[in-house]
Amino acid sequence: MLAMWVEQLLGYAGGALAAIRADEHYPSLMAWARDEGVGYLGGNIAQAQALAPELWNQTPLERLDFACEPLARPGRNEPCWCDSGRKMKHCCGAVSLPGAVPPHLMWMLSLRDWKGDTLKAALESGRAPAQALLEAGLIAAEGGQRGRAQQILETLFQAADWDHLPEQAEPAFELLIELYQERGFNRKRAALLDAILERGPLFLRGVALERLCLMHLDSDDLASAREAFVRAQQTLPDSPTLAYIEAMLLLHEGHPQEARERANFWFRRLARQGDLDGEQLQFLADLADNPGATLAEQMVNSEEALAEPLMGLQALLEALTTAPRLQFEIGDEGTEYHSTAREDTFFAAWREVFGVDVDEEAALGFQADPWPQAGDWLNALCAHPEWLDSPAVVQTLSMALASRFGSLPWMAESFFAPLAARFERWLEQIEAHAAPFVWDVADNAVLLRAGLALVVGMERGDRQRSRRLAERLLVLDENDSLGLRELVLDQLLREGRDSEALALSDQPTGEEEAPLLGVLMGRVLALYRLERFDAAEEALDAVDALNAHVVAMLCADNPRPVPLAVEVPEPGTKAEAWQYRALMRDQWVATRGALQWLAEQRQRLAERSGGR
Ligand SMILES: [Zn+2]
Repeated sequence: MLAMWVEQLLGYAGGALAAIRADEHYPSLMAWARDEGVGYLGGNIAQAQALAPELWNQTPLERLDFACEPLARPGRNEPCWCDSGRKMKHCCGAVSLPGAVPPHLMWMLSLRDWKGDTLKAALESGRAPAQALLEAGLIAAEGGQRGRAQQILETLFQAADWDHLPEQAEPAFELLIELYQERGFNRKRAALLDAILERGPLFLRGVALERLCLMHLDSDDLASAREAFVRAQQTLPDSPTLAYIEAMLLLHEGHPQEARERANFWFRRLARQGDLDGEQLQFLADLADNPGATLAEQMVNSEEALAEPLMGLQALLEALTTAPRLQFEIGDEGTEYHSTAREDTFFAAWREVFGVDVDEEAALGFQADPWPQAGDWLNALCAHPEWLDSPAVVQTLSMALASRFGSLPWMAESFFAPLAARFERWLEQIEAHAAPFVWDVADNAVLLRAGLALVVGMERGDRQRSRRLAERLLVLDENDSLGLRELVLDQLLREGRDSEALALSDQPTGEEEAPLLGVLMGRVLALYRLERFDAAEEALDAVDALNAHVVAMLCADNPRPVPLAVEVPEPGTKAEAWQYRALMRDQWVATRGALQWLAEQRQRLAERSGGR
């Protein structure tokens, strides 16, 4: 009944709006209502007459600078406002409409229709109701008109008085931030976040903070994420969002124990204040009990349509039995893995639902995104757990999971650890042959790629296991086709194993390969920490020759971010320097005197190149 009314109302209102726009005067609307409007309401002339004045009263008029021209509601014994000539009580006053008329409907429809200068003027008039802006913005975004959606939603945040932003501002803000992100307007996005954090209403600051931290965490910029957190703590000391953000941050920084302690602190503090509802308190209690599992559960639940298949996968992986042994042969170039007919059959069935091939040219990549059809392949895999006996299936699954969840430390336990256990068993078999295991021989790349995906998947959530796995792969793959040396080096430095890091940085890379910036910088940091300052200076000269931006970029407190392309940045570029800063600056900051030393070195390098 109500659904039918909404449909009738929308049809009628659309027609009424067109009739009003003909000359923006009331009589034209009433003439339309009796002649044509009645057709939208199943021939009910009383309803058609009664509805017209209601809609007229809320319609913005261009000739009045987008103000409305509402008619005074007649008294019961006065002539009806539909101009029927009868008394109100015998005419429209006696009609009850089947449902409500939203108070901003005509504004929303007008915003949907207007274009160009008219739309611009309407938005600038400042008269559009927040609800209409939000709905019109949503409609435009859903229809793929992202520029239009942005223009409409920005209006909400152009008012001078942010203290009175309506509650619709929250979804509008989230949508607008997403639009900026999709369209690559990074500066606008940063400016809006900044403005909200500085002078926005409290309910928006929490959301803005969450966005900002997640943005930095996404790009691995832990230092900026921590900065945003500290700033938020000053403005919103009692927000439950802080508890959740701090747990994420600490897990990203590799401190699970501290994450638990801090979540406990937040729980006790916020429970005492008594402002939270039961659900929020339960979430904080869970967070204090097991931050990783709680965040993982929340992550999976937030996946909407995929929540159930992902939970199925977690259950499947938890119950996984020991991996079967693989068959290896020893050939001229060392150990060779050849897939068996059984493994091929499993992989073919999996490939059928997975639908995407691995990019054979890349160390880690697909030819297309496998996630749009993830519901299908997750469900199929849960029905056929035996498919995971095929290393090729483990490879694609690990790669797909790493691409989506690898940056979230709390997903390591339920997704990557069980697959790693399977892989490590196969690795033991390879190592037992004590022969080289070369990338481009037989099906070896399948196993190496699976290993790399697991190293990446556990890199943030289980650093030690990730590093140990990477070290073992590096021994097998002497040419470092997977680019693991830099990764192992960074992890050794994080664990304070400086001598081992130094030794690793000393190994020659492949013959024609240029040294990697991360490896060279890691060497400098290791030497500095070992107090071998002369050698550190020398190593820094090699860095400067490779990339002239990285020293300045590391020293600066707030350098302008360099957008990273999808591909690995070119050697010598600012993007390469920025990437290193994002990954490792926290280690330089944490090393006493290191940044100060680097600043002095920067001076030295500048003088040297000035004197040339
Ligand atoms: Zn009437």
